This record gives sequence, C-alpha cells and structure tokens, in this order.
Amino acid sequence: MPVPSAPARPDGLPDHIRHWIGGEFADSAGGAVFDVIDPVSNTRYATASAGGPADVDKAVAAARAAFPAWAALGNRERANILTRIADAVEAREDRLAEFESFDSGLPITQARGQARRAAENFRYFADVIVALGEEAFRVGDQQLNYVVRTPAGVAGLITPWNTPFMLESWKLAPAIASGCTLVLKPAEWTPLSAGLWPEIFTEAGVPAGVVNIVHGIGEEAGQALVDHPDVPLLSFTGSTDTGRHIMRCSADGLKALSMELGGKSPVVVFADADLDAALDSVIFGVFSLNGERCTAGSRVLVERPVYEEFTRRLAERAEKVRVGPPSDPATEVGALVHPEHYARVLEYVEIGQREAKLVAGGDRPAHLPEGNYLQPTVFSDVPRDARIFQEEIFGPVVAVAAFDTEDEAVELANATRYGLAAYVWTGDLRRGHRIAHAVQSGMVWVNSHNVRDLRTPFGGVKDSGLGREGGAHSIDFFSESKIVHVMLGEVHTPRFGA
Ligand code: NAD
Repeated sequence: MPVPSAPARPDGLPDHIRHWIGGEFADSAGGAVFDVIDPVSNTRYATASAGGPADVDKAVAAARAAFPAWAALGNRERANILTRIADAVEAREDRLAEFESFDSGLPITQARGQARRAAENFRYFADVIVALGEEAFRVGDQQLNYVVRTPAGVAGLITPWNTPFMLESWKLAPAIASGCTLVLKPAEWTPLSAGLWPEIFTEAGVPAGVVNIVHGIGEEAGQALVDHPDVPLLSFTGSTDTGRHIMRCSADGLKALSMELGGKSPVVVFADADLDAALDSVIFGVFSLNGERCTAGSRVLVERPVYEEFTRRLAERAEKVRVGPPSDPATEVGALVHPEHYARVLEYVEIGQREAKLVAGGDRPAHLPEGNYLQPTVFSDVPRDARIFQEEIFGPVVAVAAFDTEDEAVELANATRYGLAAYVWTGDLRRGHRIAHAVQSGMVWVNSHNVRDLRTPFGGVKDSGLGREGGAHSIDFFSESKIVHVMLGEVHTPRFGA
C-alpha cells in the first residue's frame, strides 16, 4: 500500500539552525545559510548558518578564552558536569531520536539506541577521568620521575552524517573530560540533532566557550577549522579522501590527528559455523543503520560447501527486511541520508549488475514511490577486483563471494585498501583466533555481531584510519604528557668547564 511521501515532522522542528559560540547563538558573519533537507520528501525543512573563516575564528577565540579555567578544573568537577550532560541527553531521548530519524532517515527504533549510546559516552568518560591516576617512578632513593597530564588545547572536531549525534558525543565526551575546549563542525547533511547540544550543555552547567559549534560546508567551515593556527589537534571521522586531505593540510602546523575513516569490512563464514547465527549477524551488520555504518560487514566470504545455501538464505532474508518510513517503529531500513548519496549508491547497484549476480533487491521498493529508499541488495559471485568488492558503498548493499581454504579466506579478507573491522564465524575457536590475528583490521569480532565495550579501542588500519578512539586512547589523544624529574638526594651533575 503506498504511503504518503510527507515525513512525520517532529514537534519543535526549528526553521533555522544557528552556530553556538561562546555560549550564544550566532548567525554567520556574512549571513550565509545553507538548506537542510529531509531524506523522505527531499525538500528543505530548515536553513542552517553556513560558517566560514570569520565564524571559525570567533569560535576558536571563544574556546581559547574558556580554556584556562576549564583546564584548571579538577577531574571530579568535570566528571560531575559530564554526568549532568548524560542526564540531559537521556531526558531528551525521544526528541533526539525523532530529530535524528527525521533528518538522517535512520529508523526511529535505531535512532533511539543511538541517543542512549550518546548518553553512555558521557557517563563513561566521567568515570574514566575520576579513576585516572598519574604515573610516578622512583629511581633508587635519589630521583622521582612523574608524568603530568595536561589538556592539549583547543580541539577541532569534525564529524560525519551517519549517526551524527552519537558520533559527536564520542568525541565531545573525551575532549571535555580531558580539559580541552573545542570547536565542533557537524556534518552539513544532518545538522538538526547537533542543534540540541546548546540546551544540553547549558542545562548541565558547561561554562560558555568550552564547547562551540560552527555549522557549514566541509570545504568552507571544516577547512577553516583545519587551517586555524590556534587549533593544535583535530579529531576527524569521515571519508578516507577527506581524511587524507586534512592530513596534508595539517603537516605545516604539525597538528595531532585522529582519523576514523572508511571501511569495507569482511565477514568470513566457515562451513562449521552456526549458520543461523551467522546469517542473523550478516543481515543486521550490513542492513541496520541503513547500511550507513563504517563497520558494516559489506563483503561476505563463505566457505564453498555452504556457499549456495548461505547465499540463497541471505537473499531470502534480505527480501523480507522491512523498508519503510524512518518514523515507523516497524521499519528496519529507512531512507538513505541525501539524494546525492542515494544516487551514488544506486550507481553502485548498476555497476554491480555488470560485475556480479544480483540475487536480492537492487531497486526502490514498489510501495515507496518517493524518498531515498532502496531494497536491501545482495550480489553473489562477486570477483575480488569488482568495484562493489573494493569500494565502500555505505548503503544496504552486500557483496558475497566463495572461498575454498582458510588461506584464501584471509587473502580475500585482506584484499582491499581498507582495514576497519572484520567478522569471523566458525565452530572451531582456534581457527577463529587464527583468522582474527591474520586479518588486517583494527577490530575483529569472532562469532559475534558488532558490539563493543566503551573501554576498548576503536579504529582501523590501512586506509581506514590512524589512531584509536575509546577508553584511555581518547584521553591520551586529548592530553599532553609531561615528565617531571626531581632529584631527591644530592645532585651530582657532571662538572663541565670546572
Ligand atoms: P566526509 O569526509 O564527506 O565528511 C565528513 C566531515 O568532514 C563533514 O563534516 C564534512 O563537512 C567535513 N569536510 C569535508 N571536506 C572537508 C575539508 N576540506 N576540510 C574539513 N572538513 C571537511 O564523510 P561523510 O560522507 O560525511 O561520512 C561518511 C564516511 O565516514 C564514510 O566513509 C564512513 O566510513 C566514514 N565513517 C567512519 C567512521 C569510523 O569510525 N571509522 C565512523 C563513521 C563514518
């Protein structure tokens, strides 16, 4: 039955989304704005301020002014504020989920989970900094060496449009926990949920200027932040091409960089695996969050004896995944974020039909005549040099291929330029460990879907990034370590020129 194309408009939707600088809302210096559209009607629902160098300059100045007091605050006091931020996020779970779902096309039930995870990030980093000790080393009874951790300064945070609010929280929480002040540049396709940060931070008592938000286009607002001489560290999540560009621009300033980039993660399924569990995980891993997930298991490698059966069952299940309006609680796959991205994904579906065998999906669902909807799509017999095997599609599209030996499975798993995540399904745990060690990726899940404790490092190798986020790794990134050497006993300096 056709559904109306007009999306459910959440209550309280703003007409205009503004920067937040030094604790105050601000328009761009030149008054520039850009249109923000929803992915169901693909029409403008709001405008947002389009920042440029002058706005970034103002935001960095506000962050610099707020830095000394924020950096000097005790860890316990900062932790208390982080806990209040978590409370304020939780209190807004419904609105956050509705905004995120409306703006990015995420199914509402999944958007709710992301809002909860964002709150957890603040609660977790509150605990981390309270528990944080400083290292001290006694050298005999004559010397004491100890390490002082200091906040690194004004951080630049640049984030993507997939699960935007949660990924912003992922950087915001450790940055402010560490005592940095910052400027956040949210993704221009999904600025709506970031518009709620000001009331959250204000309610939690974050002092003005600690967090500043400049909206805008990547090449303008983002670039100005990258180029700003008073921003010594940049935490970036986004595409590999943009990450590479930011690294080049940061060379002269020797900026500290954290790069969470793209992926094309393999799922290796052996014949001795619990195939029902593997199938559930494959479906969830590539189709949840609309397939717009950096750790999506988008290449499924199946051992030959079960290849036909597994591929057939995968295709059957894919056909049953419920594609629908993001606001419908029954929806499993919503609308892709933006018509430009939708066109790119459709282009890959077309390319895939020349490169491999389409066994499920490949088209807009008949009951959804408008909006960026795509049926979950499965390609089988995908050759390793196919573009749909090599390139990140970032939509509900999966490439399946067969392998004969464990060595071949590893070789195929490693046969792309990416190395973010990997998944292994096998009944032989020793083999699970062998594959986990041999696969080139920052994260491996054995007989498990994508779950992660917040204490563990998140990140990739090869073209998937540089550095790790999560737990102590994030605190390390946003801090500088200084060693202090003190002589406790008599000083015996070698006497030159005496
Ligand atoms: P993108 O690189 O196009 O944009 C990311 C951010 O960078 C946006 O805020 C954008 O405005 C900004 N930007 C663009 N050009 C810039 C420039 N010249 N200077 C400074 N900033 C600039 O990526 P996207 O399409 O928004 O996000 C999707 C990508 O993000 C995918 O490749 C996905 O795999 C990746 N991602 C990675 C992770 C991870 O943790 N590894 C997590 C989520 C998404």
